[in-house]
Amino acid sequence: MIKKSIDGVEYFLSKSKYMNGIQCPRLVYKAVNMPDDIPPPDEATRFIFDQGHEVGALAREMFPGGILIKMFPWNSITKRTKDAVNSLAEHIYEAGFLYDETVVLVDVLRRVEGKLFDIIEVKQSTRLKEEHIPDLAIQKYVVEGAGLKVNKTFLMHINKEYVHPGQGELLIMEDCTEEVNDYFPEIKPSLEAMKQACHLDAPPEMEIGPHCSKPRDCALMHECWSDIPKLSIFNIPSYRKKWELYDQGIVLLNDIPDVTALNHNQETFIRSYKMREPVIDKQAIKDELDSLVEPIYFLDFETVNWAVPKHDGMKAYRQMPFQWSIHVMDGGGEPEHKEFLWDNKEDPRKALADSLLDALGDKGTIVMYSSFERTALNNLAEELPEYRDRVDAVIGRLWDLLEIFRKYYIDANFGGNNSIKNVLPVLVPGEGYGNLEIQEGGLASAMFAKMISKEGHEKEKIRNDLLEYCKQDTQAMVDIYRALLEKIE
Ligand code: SF4
Repeated sequence: MIKKSIDGVEYFLSKSKYMNGIQCPRLVYKAVNMPDDIPPPDEATRFIFDQGHEVGALAREMFPGGILIKMFPWNSITKRTKDAVNSLAEHIYEAGFLYDETVVLVDVLRRVEGKLFDIIEVKQSTRLKEEHIPDLAIQKYVVEGAGLKVNKTFLMHINKEYVHPGQGELLIMEDCTEEVNDYFPEIKPSLEAMKQACHLDAPPEMEIGPHCSKPRDCALMHECWSDIPKLSIFNIPSYRKKWELYDQGIVLLNDIPDVTALNHNQETFIRSYKMREPVIDKQAIKDELDSLVEPIYFLDFETVNWAVPKHDGMKAYRQMPFQWSIHVMDGGGEPEHKEFLWDNKEDPRKALADSLLDALGDKGTIVMYSSFERTALNNLAEELPEYRDRVDAVIGRLWDLLEIFRKYYIDANFGGNNSIKNVLPVLVPGEGYGNLEIQEGGLASAMFAKMISKEGHEKEKIRNDLLEYCKQDTQAMVDIYRALLEKIE
């Protein structure tokens, strides 16, 4: 058991470990006793944390004149919090409390009177979620255990209707007092169960289950799911009853009983698996591809969704394109490549829209992969009304390549997920994203956010990585398109 101490008082649990423990005893055991087994957050996750810190700082501005309890020196955080409580400050931020071997930091403590306080938890989500209730309840438990009285508990979260700058409030509060009080009796027994689990000699063996992804994917899935084959019942697209099959001991696709109720797509997926080949409607694909008008543009955006909108007319978490890549095919020969990448903190939208509309001309089909590009274009037109007519004309030329793999080309080797990263290596073996520094959109967003704060060599390196990544996305679409043409010959 790894124990820590604050002001000489030992503890080994925290709010985040309590949340781990609610998800799974094995997870909290590892978080407490074997923290090195839990992979550190990746760059994309760190970007989400950074956005959370920005939201937290904005929340503090809504409760002005308070005392911020700095994290360091950690060893005296409860003592410094106590001093702030005794100082009669109206608001205390990041207040630290320790009770029952558990430490919590409260985002905002709002004094009602004397030692009676409201607890305000700040989240970057756009609504109250189920997991926020135990999060607030454990804070109330520890704060009250440490000698204060809690009046009400609130969640402060992002208002998705807010429009920058200043149309409405960016952060809104929800009173969760009733829900937290209803949950409160569960705290003591669940803490006791977690403590027992953490005192075991070895991590408890746990069966996998829906809890592995609730409220989020567990960081230990690489361990606990290692016996699940690459293709299993968990790959059946949009199949809601997989845990019912699992509980009957069925994991392999070959073992699914014939009587299992499946929709057309799910049945076709299983058929493809059993035949070991794709199920293709060649005529339908031919009809679709014949409808494309040259020049054919293959378009991909990279976007960033700021929790705190940065530019006029933007809403929170609105996907803001900062980069595009286009491959243009006109007749035979190799497609021409064009690209755009914004690389500073200013508003990219007009420069992006001008360059994009110029590159796309006024005729020819524009191929996208999923409806993401359509949504991004619609958002752009909403935020820049002067571009509405021209953007609408572009939207009218869009054609979604993904629809082929939703309707007419089902291959179990896609793993039940028709993303371009899954489809490309099956249709065009050897091609892919293997050597790229950036391999998915979440990381591209995080790297864009990093790049615009950098200069020199580091900025240039990220720039090149982003250009390579976005270019690969449209090259992948070209490769898939050509592979489809060959398949229907
Ligand atoms: S992967 Fe599932 S079983 Fe394993 S520790 Fe996480 S939640 Fe528990």
